Amino acid sequence: MGLSLGVFAQESKKVNAAQGNTYTTAQGSYMPKFAVDGKSAKVKNVILMIGDGMGTGAVNAAHYANGGELTMTNLRAMGFVRTQSADNFTTDSAASGTAYACGQKTNNGYVGVSTKGEPMPNLPEKLGALGWVSGVVSTDDLNGATPASFFAHEQARGNSEAIWADLPESSLKFASAGARKVYEKQPLKTQEAISAKYKVVFSPDEVSASDEAVLYLPESVAYDQRGNYLPETTALAIEYLSAQKGKGFFLMVEGARIDKEAHSNKFAETVRETLDFDKAIAEAIRFADEDGHTLVIISADHETGGLSFNAGVPEEGYTMGVFTSRGHTPSMVPLFIYGPHSREFTGVHENSDISNMIFSILSGK
Ligand SMILES: [Zn+2]
Repeated sequence: MGLSLGVFAQESKKVNAAQGNTYTTAQGSYMPKFAVDGKSAKVKNVILMIGDGMGTGAVNAAHYANGGELTMTNLRAMGFVRTQSADNFTTDSAASGTAYACGQKTNNGYVGVSTKGEPMPNLPEKLGALGWVSGVVSTDDLNGATPASFFAHEQARGNSEAIWADLPESSLKFASAGARKVYEKQPLKTQEAISAKYKVVFSPDEVSASDEAVLYLPESVAYDQRGNYLPETTALAIEYLSAQKGKGFFLMVEGARIDKEAHSNKFAETVRETLDFDKAIAEAIRFADEDGHTLVIISADHETGGLSFNAGVPEEGYTMGVFTSRGHTPSMVPLFIYGPHSREFTGVHENSDISNMIFSILSGK
């Protein structure tokens, strides 16, 4: 196993154009108000933000590449999450997504089902029964393991047709992920079942708070084609869900491509995706400040690439890192929490515990 070295440089200093590190200036960060952070105000809404593959190396590298700041590192309540799956010390996104969604560990490759293959209720289902509305937003395809864990129940994460076919039975009111062409490849009867339940749209302008349920599929979720899709759709989902009747909302937002770039050991792209995810975090924190009853939880499903952050010139947006793996690693992942009751989430937790704590803090059960 060789080490793979990469660099990230902001526009001001193109260190090595051959490595593709041409970037704009630092994007800044949102400084939270901390008015209700850690206080005992009632929590009505939870926004769970999962950076797929985002370990401490990615957070460090993005923080210093951004001039020494991120919205997530502006937060005060922190912890770590252990990610092991039921059958493997190193999890995949299916098992960890299921742990976050259903509050119980399962085997690698399993989506929303137990180690015995039996369906387990996910947060949108459990909370939906009690009067909450739910949504997911992701830069993966909707059948990707992380978003799928919040609506599907399948033993094989690769069975994308079965996962899409589970969507009409789900408890999601709002879903947005990639991409239009992926949806249009599904069997006609699946598309018909989905469009019977969801208003299927291909532009954010077509989303209205009065819609019964919405599936918004952008043309592409590739980085160079999606623009500000992730932060803008996070804001759109919050706007839609907070306008619905009910006790509040649960929203899962995934920055899916940190993992994909880290698998390829592309350092600059891993940093770029982490920075994009941080923009979505800023939208969630900004809403939490306005609302006062929203808890935001930011973590990852696992670390990818064994990324070690080992050099940087923050004022020039230049950072360097080394990958020690092309796969996932069993490292604990960082946890950031903001809003009422945030301090109850500090410390070290299992990924499955986070799910159960979210359910408990919303439902009182
Ligand atoms: Zn992965």
